[in-house]
Amino acid sequence: MLTNSLVELDRQHLVHPVSSFRGHEARGVRVLRSAKGATVTDVEGRELIDGFAGLWCVNAGYGHESVVEAAAEQMRRLPYATGYFDLGSEAPIRLAAALAERAPGDMNHIYFTLGGSDAVDSTIRFVRYYWHAKGQPERDQFISVAQGYHGSTTMGAGLTALPGFHDGFGVPYAWQHKISSHYLYRNPLGDDPQMVIDASVAELRAKVAAIGEDKVAAFYVEPIQGSGGVLVPPKGWIKAMRDVCKELGILFVADEVITGFGRTGPIFASAEEGIVPDLMTCAKGLTSGYVPMGAVFMSDHVYDTIADGAGAKAVGHGFTYSAHPVSAAVALEVLALYEGGLFDNGIKAGARLMAGLESLRDHPLVGDVRGRGMLAAVELVTDKDKKTPLPPEVQPATRLFDRAWDQGLIVRSFAQGIFGYAPPLCCTDAEIDAIVERTRAVLDITL
Ligand code: PLP
Repeated sequence: MLTNSLVELDRQHLVHPVSSFRGHEARGVRVLRSAKGATVTDVEGRELIDGFAGLWCVNAGYGHESVVEAAAEQMRRLPYATGYFDLGSEAPIRLAAALAERAPGDMNHIYFTLGGSDAVDSTIRFVRYYWHAKGQPERDQFISVAQGYHGSTTMGAGLTALPGFHDGFGVPYAWQHKISSHYLYRNPLGDDPQMVIDASVAELRAKVAAIGEDKVAAFYVEPIQGSGGVLVPPKGWIKAMRDVCKELGILFVADEVITGFGRTGPIFASAEEGIVPDLMTCAKGLTSGYVPMGAVFMSDHVYDTIADGAGAKAVGHGFTYSAHPVSAAVALEVLALYEGGLFDNGIKAGARLMAGLESLRDHPLVGDVRGRGMLAAVELVTDKDKKTPLPPEVQPATRLFDRAWDQGLIVRSFAQGIFGYAPPLCCTDAEIDAIVERTRAVLDITL
């Protein structure tokens, strides 16, 4: 009864993100009620393993009382403080210092946002400001990677290279350019890692030359492309792209909204790649999804250029909720949990997850298994040699999602017939094994 009335109210009033409005109306919402660890429970009492940590964000897992207490204590004491007028509060200051200490290289300056999209959007503004401050305002062209996702704000959606975020919205703009994805499994050039790296380097150089070397402002990458289907670049790809940007004097922006906070093992994937970006974004795992927050990291030279360029003038970028103290208090507590054992558990669980998913390769529908740590994908095909995608009637994401749900598993189902995995780092061995077993059960009934 309760479910029926909620479904009806939802249908009438709640507009869902990135969904077919009409399709959603027809299917109706599934209402979740509570969660603990890696398990979510719906309003009918059905329990499911959340193999996707909400939306790759609840890295610490659900139901940590200490996080709830940190938020409550901050709300009681000081629920809000602006950063305008030279004001501030303790939690965001401590959080910025803690993050700077853990960030790669000299990324010592942190600007807090409300999530990943506005973090990316903020980088576009800061990059533009940087080049104006350097006396090169004509550097206003941006390059990103096909299959990439960088949020869905007006500007960021154009760096995103997934057609669903462009069609009907009039993006991308003429100043937003793309190079091909590395996508090893379906790379038309083959899957030799060095060849893919060399091809991407050549393409980036050619793209910059075509635009004009003195016109390119920045190049954006995800250390692992998430929403494009969990596409892991060959080892050395990121470093090679970073080196090209350094050589050509282009800012390099690492979008770590998914890969940050233990998703691939270390706190930031950039460190694992041995690179220091000029700017970096994160969100999601920063607060483990308990409250909204994102961040832009700036290296010293970016911050100093902007600061010196502005002089006594205000840098006119900011939100009412920049550096929100409750979000910062939550992020500090989540960081303590990560470093108190969750990062270590995530590394162990990630190895088990990858091994478990690899064991699915014997299934006739499994074409590819890829990932790193607690970020993985299984790509389904009907013919392994020809890499034939699933037929259109099986492929829709909702079909695959439904089948996993029926097995008591939540996983991301990409429209191309790809299952995406990003479980909470707190998963036990038994939960990881259940994710793999339930996936096999879904595969057995998929065709
Ligand atoms: N950048 C990347 C790499 C992402 O994966 C996402 C979201 O999935 C975003 C940016 C946008 O973040 P948000 O959804 O918090 O706005």
